[in-house]
Amino acid sequence: MTDSTIVELVTRAAASLEAAGLTAIDARQDASVLARHVLGWTLEHWLGHQRDTAPEGFEATFTPAIARRVTREPVAYIVGEREFYWRAFTVTSAVLIPRPETEMIIDIAIVASGAYRYPQIIDVGTGSGCIAVTMAAELPLATVVATDISAPALIVAASNARRHGVTDRVAFRHGAFFGGYDEPVDLILSNPPYVPDRDRATMAPEVEGHEPAKALFGGGDGLDCVRSLVALAPDHLRPGGRLIFEFGQGQAPRIKQLIACQPALHLEEIREDLQGIPRIAIVTRR
Ligand code: GLN
Repeated sequence: MTDSTIVELVTRAAASLEAAGLTAIDARQDASVLARHVLGWTLEHWLGHQRDTAPEGFEATFTPAIARRVTREPVAYIVGEREFYWRAFTVTSAVLIPRPETEMIIDIAIVASGAYRYPQIIDVGTGSGCIAVTMAAELPLATVVATDISAPALIVAASNARRHGVTDRVAFRHGAFFGGYDEPVDLILSNPPYVPDRDRATMAPEVEGHEPAKALFGGGDGLDCVRSLVALAPDHLRPGGRLIFEFGQGQAPRIKQLIACQPALHLEEIREDLQGIPRIAIVTRR
């Protein structure tokens, strides 16, 4: 039993999150988001009612949620979802949490799809399915193959296909890279693991301690998967088709070299993210 108001409990929770290493602003924000999640309240309702006495049973759910955040588990895993391209995606610790910069792949791929009546797309290393499902949802005439080496990730991706009503146009395949799918497609999309192994030591505890390592790390220079993707792409693209993929800070020069080594490929453009960091490669099959 408690007579505390919700804000009082949130303030106390924020203090423990600050003690766990979050900034004061993040601590307050995360405690509020988790409280709102536990209550199932909209932001509007929250603004009007956060000074109410906490309802019966609130602490029993809120306290364990805060305890998880104290271990630096990301909020998205605790609430079980994250928004991507205006849709909510179910996420578990089996999948990388969708990042805003990855939405650039969608913007670019939608434009590139304009050249096709029935775009055929493959998403290599689909994870949560955010790229594959978003493409299918945005383009009602597109069909998408989504692969992943992780079976648990594919279960999450399939649940997101159901959630967004695109199960009839997204096919999942378990396996590395193209998952044994050998038909050439119009677009290959991928957010591969690209973080250099040695960066592990300097990563945020939320990422390093909680997100799946095989979705993040790409070997010594981070480019192990990118090298294979670029090498395999020509055989999996129709002429004029595109490979559009994400990469990490400082990797643009190596990406240019890798693509220059493939006579069947042409680097059309490297797009910067909102922070001005070169982030997405747009490659054409000659
Ligand atoms: N951008 C992610 C991060 O920095 C990495 C994503 C990836 O490796 N594909 O945590």
